[in-house]
Amino acid sequence: MPAISEFLFENIGLSLELVQAIKDLNYTEATGIQAKAIPLLMQGNDLIGRSCTGTGKTAAFGIPAVECVAGGERSAQVLVLSPTRELAMQIAQEMCKYAKYKPGVAVAAIYGGAPMEPQIHQLKTANIVIGTPGRVMDHLRRRTLRLDNLRMVILDEADEMLNMGFLEDIQTILAQTPQQRQTVLFSATMPPAILKITEEFLRDPQTVDIQSEQRTISTIEQFYYQVPQSRKMDAINLLLQMQEPRRSVIFSNTKSMVDELVCYLNDHGFKAAGLHGDMKQAGRTHVMQGFREGKNRILVATDVAARGIDVENIEAVYNFDIPQDFEYYIHRIGRTGRAGKTGASHTLVCNRHQAEIIRSLSRYINAPILEASMPTAENIQQKHLEKLSAKVAKMLSDHSFTQYENQLDQLTNTHGFALREVACALLQLQLTKDKRLIPVFKASAATHKSFQNGNRMVLHLDMGRQEGITPNDIVNAITSITNLSARAVGKIDIFDDHTLLEMRENDAAIVAQQSGNYTIKGRAVHFSPSNLTMRSSLPNARHFGGAPRMEYRGKPSREKPRRSGKSFGEKRRRSYDCP
Ligand code: ADP
Ligand code: MG
Repeated sequence: MPAISEFLFENIGLSLELVQAIKDLNYTEATGIQAKAIPLLMQGNDLIGRSCTGTGKTAAFGIPAVECVAGGERSAQVLVLSPTRELAMQIAQEMCKYAKYKPGVAVAAIYGGAPMEPQIHQLKTANIVIGTPGRVMDHLRRRTLRLDNLRMVILDEADEMLNMGFLEDIQTILAQTPQQRQTVLFSATMPPAILKITEEFLRDPQTVDIQSEQRTISTIEQFYYQVPQSRKMDAINLLLQMQEPRRSVIFSNTKSMVDELVCYLNDHGFKAAGLHGDMKQAGRTHVMQGFREGKNRILVATDVAARGIDVENIEAVYNFDIPQDFEYYIHRIGRTGRAGKTGASHTLVCNRHQAEIIRSLSRYINAPILEASMPTAENIQQKHLEKLSAKVAKMLSDHSFTQYENQLDQLTNTHGFALREVACALLQLQLTKDKRLIPVFKASAATHKSFQNGNRMVLHLDMGRQEGITPNDIVNAITSITNLSARAVGKIDIFDDHTLLEMRENDAAIVAQQSGNYTIKGRAVHFSPSNLTMRSSLPNARHFGGAPRMEYRGKPSREKPRRSGKSFGEKRRRSYDCP
């Protein structure tokens, strides 16, 4: 662990202008990738930087890029290449923030689908250019962009940029840059085959790899649900009603399904907007802006929104379809849990083959993806009731309601109703106002099969919601001390100050035997046999992942992946949905 001082922006050789701009962004400390990469980049090294999604890679390359520009020079000195238009716009906006106090820095964002003229105008003065490969090549052909004075070229989402769909374009662009340029690659994922290609472009590169055991951020809880293919839309509907994320992204593999899902969700009382490559750029920009501003809280998208997009407070990501390769899963779910926040991902699985893919995926990312069962209509009604009761309680504590007393007297004195009856009738009236239909799911086959063999036992764990415990913590504690697999862990109910979990009797005995050896969140914890009943019948169960009374099942067993590579599905994507 480096000394704290390495994480202070003041101490990593930045100019006062940049330090002030970073202060304005309220970044108190550099993230790991920033602390390591910024000094190396300022020394002029070529560099490959890898760290998880949402760990601040943009600033890791953006800050030194702004530093290296000679303010006032009116030609491109830094070129950032991005796989999507939305990401190019986002990076350009970030660059402007870093350059706030540095005079003479001019940023241009150039991407397809937008008129050429304003871009040509911007390019006349720009010294930092951010673009998608196709449009960069257009401007190079027209000679409205020249790269003779380029000092630094950055490939954000580098593995995607060097993938088959973009490789030729990148080669063409780099061929027009000076030999002695500095070349910089960043991504959360860097498959070995792509790493090999980078040798062609880099000179004695430094590598900054912020090692983490898991390829995904550990603050993202990951779940999957077995649902019939024909009920996937209803499943998303139900999960959204249950979890009510402030902001969420639903990923689908096809543009037509994005459109269908948006129609379905809007017909069913949600406010959703779609984003995919067949849309006009103005529409895409409008949708992203609406999503950032919170006008539409649900974004339904193809993988065009998977790479690099940073929108605050995305609380959940839903995979309507399983993505076509593992890297895409990592990038999709990485839209949540950013900058140290928590998040959840929910993936729909329709058959045994897909369930096996999830197991291989869980092994590849080295993180549990827990099976959860769909919430029931009762769960949702209960949730509505609890919300309404909380509102009523708040209203009662805030106000007095003298103006309604006459009506109440009439109901009680004239009609002879009890006050309790009147209150219940009012609650029911209020609850039935929500006309949104609740789809009904049978409990999944997995739910019934689980633990069919052998008796079940409930274990009590002396840690609960108040200490921030998660299902992952419990599974990890058990699998690290015993030789049980994560599958041995059945339902988990988290309460305020304790947790109940269900296991086969034999497995429960093994866990209880080791009691005293378990640590969760730095504290010794104990598992002991309990006579208490599991969840649904009990009040106050922790609604984790926003989903009260859902059943969580253990991590899939560590089976060998069916395929040797990490990609699966019919065909590996050759190019981006919409470069
Ligand atoms: P990545 O490219 O690694 O996925 P981003 O560069 O998009 O991540 O940054 C993710 C979020 O973290 C952004 O909202 C950004 O403003 C924020 N962020 C970046 N660096 C810091 C920092 N040093 N302190 C606090 N927040 C940061
Ligand atoms: Mg990024």
